[in-house]
Amino acid sequence: MSKNSVFVLDTNRKPCNPTHPAVARKLLTQGKAAVFRRYPLTIILKEESKNKPKELRIKIDPGAKTTGLALLSDTNMVWCAELEHRGFQIKDNLSDRRVRRRSRRNRKTRYRQPRFLNRKRRDGWLPPSLMSRVFNIESWVKKLCRLAPISTISMELVRFDTQKMVNPEINGTEYQKGELFGYEVREYLLEKFNRTCVYCNTKEGPFNLDHFHPKSQGGSDRVSNLVLSCVKCNQKKDNKLPANFLSDQPKLLALIEKQRKQPLTDTAAVNATRWKLKETLEAIGLPVEVGSGGLTKFNRKRLGISKSHWADAACVGTSTPNSLNIKGYQPLLIKAMGRGSRKMVNSDKYGFPRGAPKLRQKSFFGFQTGDLVKAVVNKGKKIGTYVGRVAVRKTGSFNIKTKTELVQGISHKYCQHTHKSDGFNYGFGELVQQKVKVVKLIISQPTNPTQLNLFDTTEFSIQTTNTKTKHTRKSKRKEGEQLS
Ligand SMILES: [Zn+2]
Repeated sequence: MSKNSVFVLDTNRKPCNPTHPAVARKLLTQGKAAVFRRYPLTIILKEESKNKPKELRIKIDPGAKTTGLALLSDTNMVWCAELEHRGFQIKDNLSDRRVRRRSRRNRKTRYRQPRFLNRKRRDGWLPPSLMSRVFNIESWVKKLCRLAPISTISMELVRFDTQKMVNPEINGTEYQKGELFGYEVREYLLEKFNRTCVYCNTKEGPFNLDHFHPKSQGGSDRVSNLVLSCVKCNQKKDNKLPANFLSDQPKLLALIEKQRKQPLTDTAAVNATRWKLKETLEAIGLPVEVGSGGLTKFNRKRLGISKSHWADAACVGTSTPNSLNIKGYQPLLIKAMGRGSRKMVNSDKYGFPRGAPKLRQKSFFGFQTGDLVKAVVNKGKKIGTYVGRVAVRKTGSFNIKTKTELVQGISHKYCQHTHKSDGFNYGFGELVQQKVKVVKLIISQPTNPTQLNLFDTTEFSIQTTNTKTKHTRKSKRKEGEQLS
């Protein structure tokens, strides 16, 4: 049984404290509440609530394919979800359309001049595939704000914090210089070498931080001396000098030499979509806290939580509590499906019209394509119960896509709504069984806090904490530290 809270609204639709599923069930059986929405499960009370609800924080880890969402109240997990975007699908559809139009211009159809120089892009324009991700997240934050007493937003803005690398003292928190700083450097190197082993070009992790010029041979701890290497190559290289290790590949040696000395520009850390998202979230009117990817990973490791999109979301930002229990939680899997297409006639793979034009009418017998329905069929060939997404037909004979199969020809008479189409599809992820160890915050005291400058690679250095050196020695790794 999932511990994900059930959202509660009072009779005036004012959000109240989310409650445990068992309490919600009791309220429903006693007739004190009714189901308001199925996904996310929300109940509406039949009376007004006078209590002031406890404020919640929504945390967001935006990703290219999937975004993690988590609701936290102080140190407690309240609700979590993973939102799957359709960015790549949008891109495919648009390039598909472009190809069709281009081919139409060369065929014997009415001539339509190619249009160009008539388009202007507004400032801050982003491709539709990227904007779709921003809109998905915006609509979910707004939706959750209507269902729960949310007062603050946290989001991951950048992969690594160049600010902290430039001037570690900038925020004055002790741990930033020590272990956290290491995490920022790791994220920085992963980005710099494009998550690829410099020696064999594999993209398969885990990666090690390799001291290009070995430490035992006098190599430094500076970031410019660190390269990304897979575990195999790292072990093979051991403490050999780069010139010896790559004696038969002088080209590669020269390439790595060049690459490692080139600092990443600031722009590499900046992800346009995330900045756009920040702007959008700020427009909602709630305070927005931002964090870096390095900090997220640091927090997640500190809390001993295994990686998932929603767990990452829960660890975003400095507001992350010192302990977080995620056992018994199950993320709601939300998949953006779009709301149909504007195409009035389907086309075959050559772009020719296929079949009759689409009807303008979208809903038939009270159902619309995309609604989630339950059909209990008690006679005929298709006896059984089917739960899933419906595709409507004018005839009233619908298709239902269940978890496992596509069932065709189910009459509308058997169908009942569970959730009306809202552009998303829903499911549930795995229930977390993992026991969480509570780890105390490790505060390390660097002996010599050096001023770091991102654009001057010679000034880079890594401060290793005592705990980390011990760890490295224990696992007999000579020249590298494990990355995951
Ligand atoms: Zn390798």
